[in-house]
Amino acid sequence: MICFGKRTVLSFLLFEFVSGLLLLPVAEDTTTLRFAQSSSLSFRDRPFYRRSSRLATIQGQRTILKMSNDAVGFIGIGIMGEGMVGRLVSEDIAGTPDKPLIIWNRTRQKCVDFKDKFPDKNVEIKETAKEVVESCEISYCMLSTPEASKAVFESKDGVLAGVTEGKAIVDCATLAESDMKRMNDAVTEKGGYFLEAPVSGSKVPALTGQLIFLCAGSKELFDKIENNGLKAMGKASHFFNTEVGFGTRAKLVVNSLMGTMVAAFGEGLALSENVGLDPMKIIEVIGSGAIQSPVFGLKGPKMIAKDHAANFPLKHAHKDMKLASDMAKSFGAEFSVNDKAEELFRKAREDKELNVADEDFSAVYERIHKESKGESSKKRTNSD
Ligand code: NAP
Repeated sequence: MICFGKRTVLSFLLFEFVSGLLLLPVAEDTTTLRFAQSSSLSFRDRPFYRRSSRLATIQGQRTILKMSNDAVGFIGIGIMGEGMVGRLVSEDIAGTPDKPLIIWNRTRQKCVDFKDKFPDKNVEIKETAKEVVESCEISYCMLSTPEASKAVFESKDGVLAGVTEGKAIVDCATLAESDMKRMNDAVTEKGGYFLEAPVSGSKVPALTGQLIFLCAGSKELFDKIENNGLKAMGKASHFFNTEVGFGTRAKLVVNSLMGTMVAAFGEGLALSENVGLDPMKIIEVIGSGAIQSPVFGLKGPKMIAKDHAANFPLKHAHKDMKLASDMAKSFGAEFSVNDKAEELFRKAREDKELNVADEDFSAVYERIHKESKGESSKKRTNSD
């Protein structure tokens, strides 16, 4: 139980006081169990249980008292983070007089720009990620890559340095399962709560609160934020398992499918052009049949017009396909369609001439044209 109303806290303290005097052995077990249930570790595995069950009881009390802090933290105000924090303040989950929004980003200017956009909201910018975590009960993280996440998590002024007992970390990035597990272990070892919560959706769904959260880890933390922060930022939240890793697995399945879809769609459009079909007409045909997808409808006309303004950068799409490919290998799953598409994305990402790594992942279309020998493709590639 993370969220405690005044009455619950009072009853809890009363219970602790009375049981401490009269029923210490029972109280220790009960409180330890309650506290230990807050973590994904079994309560007998928790280090402070092993050290002393009485200490666990005391720490349990401290945890609850700390939970009265309603500030919400957000680390990483990037393409996704900006929209997500916008939802937290516009839905009054944070940024109100009693629930400040505390933010940090490597490029500080993005925090300043965000604060300027919401002058009437209670937004505080910190100098380090550590300070954000120290100031808040719950901190969300939305960093780009495993490397970025590790740097921000493990540095001396980073996320982990700010974690103490009872702190809750929700990591929304798409990383490897091993990254999530490492963070979970480090946070829970310090008595904190961890939830992996990668998202399906892109820049616009982030801005409009239409993300889909794919969660695993602390169920207690999930229950606390499902109808709160997650609801403000998303249209659905799924909880897969108390074992961290299952959220990432789900996310990688979804994103690898999206990447292969866009690669296959791009090949279909390029082929259409090369065989003399109007690709806009083909988009219309696809959109009216059983294989229609919002991705095709949104991206198709832009791909043809060479408009690859980044909603989901190609370098991140490639990262996810590579992570999915590694995951499939480690589980011995056939994944050759994804792997072929991953190769296309990698070539696009590494192509210095095309220079599309930071553009939208739809720009894989340019690499498809570059690899095609058809007249339309040659014309398109040479017109740059
Ligand atoms: P982004 O804008 O490229 O970067 C997110 C944040 O990471 C930025 O705040 C950036 O700080 C920070 N960062 C990068 N390298 C860093 C480092 N070495 N040290 C400290 N901070 C660093 O990424 P995004 O598009 O928001 O995506 C965030 C995560 O969500 C990724 O894992 C991505 O795969 C996933 N995702 C993205 C989308 C999408 O459509 N964009 C959709 C679903 C999931 P600066 O501002 O200083 O660069």
